[in-house]
Amino acid sequence: MARSILSHFLILSNTSPRSISSLRPSGVHLRKCLSRTAIFHQNRLRIGENLRCFCSVSVSEPSTSETSSSSVKKRIVSGVQPTGSIHLGNYLGAIKNWIDLQNTYETLFFIVDLHAITLPYDTQQLSKSTRDTAALYLACGVDSSKASVFVQSHVRAHVELMWLLSSTTPIGWLNRMIQFKEKSRKAGDENVGVALLTYPVLMASDILLYQSDFVPVGEDQKQHLELTRELAERVNYLYGGRKWKKLGGRGGALFKVPEPLIPPTGARVMSLTDGLSKVMSKSAPSDQSRINLLDSKDAIANKIKRCKTDSFTSLEFDNPERPECNNLLSVYQLITGKTKQEVVEECKDMNWGTFKTVLTDALIDHLNPIQIRYAEIMSDTTYLDNILAEGATKASSIADVTLNNLYQAMGFLRR
Ligand code: ATP
Ligand code: MG
Repeated sequence: MARSILSHFLILSNTSPRSISSLRPSGVHLRKCLSRTAIFHQNRLRIGENLRCFCSVSVSEPSTSETSSSSVKKRIVSGVQPTGSIHLGNYLGAIKNWIDLQNTYETLFFIVDLHAITLPYDTQQLSKSTRDTAALYLACGVDSSKASVFVQSHVRAHVELMWLLSSTTPIGWLNRMIQFKEKSRKAGDENVGVALLTYPVLMASDILLYQSDFVPVGEDQKQHLELTRELAERVNYLYGGRKWKKLGGRGGALFKVPEPLIPPTGARVMSLTDGLSKVMSKSAPSDQSRINLLDSKDAIANKIKRCKTDSFTSLEFDNPERPECNNLLSVYQLITGKTKQEVVEECKDMNWGTFKTVLTDALIDHLNPIQIRYAEIMSDTTYLDNILAEGATKASSIADVTLNNLYQAMGFLRR
């Protein structure tokens, strides 16, 4: 069962989880680690994507024997920032996939509110957006009897681990992040917060706290997971293994090194106004560029009517000259659950006007039940708050184990 779900995703790395023996301090290992790091940073500089979203699959302990045991339920951890309205990209690239995964894995889905303050934000909106996002998780089908749903800032271990990891993160790794370089250059050093530089470390904490095996990420996230992997290896090398054992610990790896997985379709939903170079995003200035899950029927119809198309006569997938056509057909395919071939057969002879009507109807049909459930959930905030409290309690119990191990391995005096 677990395998059949994983087979829907591409495993992007051939690296197997580190065994305890591979963590033995050695010059060779360190050199390998450092050279991998250099390659990773060259890649990051080229790609330079947004770092603040992720999801992952994991088991509770990082040792090799447990990883190979089929009786241990693997774990998925994933989150969305409460930075605005949840849109089709968030839904098709992340939340919709969670619904299948929660049936097989132990799942923790959280609202990454600590990331939402990296850039200037509205204090009057943060808690509302956080609650809205949680309610939408549930409305989309996240089941709180299977998954833990919680707010990142309610589990203090995220921030604590970030500080411990910060001491081990070379500043050069963060300075090279293209997004930091671009934004700090544009705004000037006096106008950007330190958090813009350090949030990749918080993201690593979000993943490593839960000992993730796999990270099913959107295309834009591959490079970000690399930072997490490098950091995990570095901490394991510096503090794990025999050194930790000498301090009374279990020995072995402190963190599992997570592997990336990418869903085959829908990994990247593009903007309605630019299908070539812009992904659909909450923070894009124009609301016309995205379909929000809570958009009214009229708003959906209007956005699809006005979205960018091309002057070709028929419709087709995978023509590099027709990014908008590929994007809209892919959205239609995912929303309807049809196969690519079925969509080709159905739509290939349609003109844009006909297809836009068909797509609008499919979007409204799909989103309407979500909107109804959302309204029900929001009408009883006590119910929602209880789910979030319960989720945070469960998450803390896992996160605290990881954090306490690291405190011990780093030599802290414990209470
Ligand atoms: P922001 O503009 O504030 O960064 P965002 O729209 O990029 O917001 P995030 O909270 O950063 O959303 O991402 C949450 C999840 O949604 C991540 O798993 C991310 O990969 C996925 N995601 C975001 N945008 C898209 C998209 N256009 N297509 C597919 N997946 C997406
Ligand atoms: Mg983003």
